[in-house]
Amino acid sequence: MGMPMGVGIVAASGVFLAAGAVGLYGTFVPQSSLWCRNTWHGPRAGDRVALTFDDGPSPGYTDRVLEILARQRVPASFFVIGRNVEKSPNLLRRVHDAGHLVGNHTFDHHHFAVFRGYRYWLDQLERTSNIVERTIGQRPRYFRPPVGIKFIFTAMAARRLGQTVVTWSQSARDGVATSVDRIMARLANVTGGDIITLHDGIDPHSPRRPEITLEALPILIEQLRTRGLEFARLDELIADQVAAGDART
Ligand SMILES: [Zn+2]
Repeated sequence: MGMPMGVGIVAASGVFLAAGAVGLYGTFVPQSSLWCRNTWHGPRAGDRVALTFDDGPSPGYTDRVLEILARQRVPASFFVIGRNVEKSPNLLRRVHDAGHLVGNHTFDHHHFAVFRGYRYWLDQLERTSNIVERTIGQRPRYFRPPVGIKFIFTAMAARRLGQTVVTWSQSARDGVATSVDRIMARLANVTGGDIITLHDGIDPHSPRRPEITLEALPILIEQLRTRGLEFARLDELIADQVAAGDART
């Protein structure tokens, strides 16, 4: 005699719920590595952190971020939207010429594309890589999915193109309306190895005031330096982990 039907149904639902919870975690939590190897921080032993800027290039903002970084001699990384590169190729050239890293952040930056198929993701990544290469002569080696959401097809497309998936361990959450104080409070616990996400662009699906990021940036840089932290380009921060194939921990 097997177990009573009621118990069986409860047990089966439990398994489905658990599988569903793991799937949701793997898909929607930026730090998860369920669908792909995902690098979300660098070595914890050192004093280096990486500043990353998403959603540009955008005239009026990316150029001002570049000025602040140049003044403070901070190397950084920019995850760009293909559609924005198309509109502002000269701005991307300035990012590259200043010595910063350029990464792939899809062509359209749709938030709800997460469950689109493999071909969609391959097309999004490839079109962005192509336009970046036409503009600065190099294809991106790093890919950051919009809002940190990744599904199996996102992961497959990135792997096919040889791009390392990178999210973050600290976020300013400045992609939406916020204040300098809130940004500083969110980033109060940054330590060595952190990958920090800020925004130099305006997400086409979520309007905000990028001036807040521009105001916060010099304060943030000074505060992190005062605490003994140094800035590195993302590829320099995580080079050893990516080479060792151990990007998760
Ligand atoms: Zn984004």
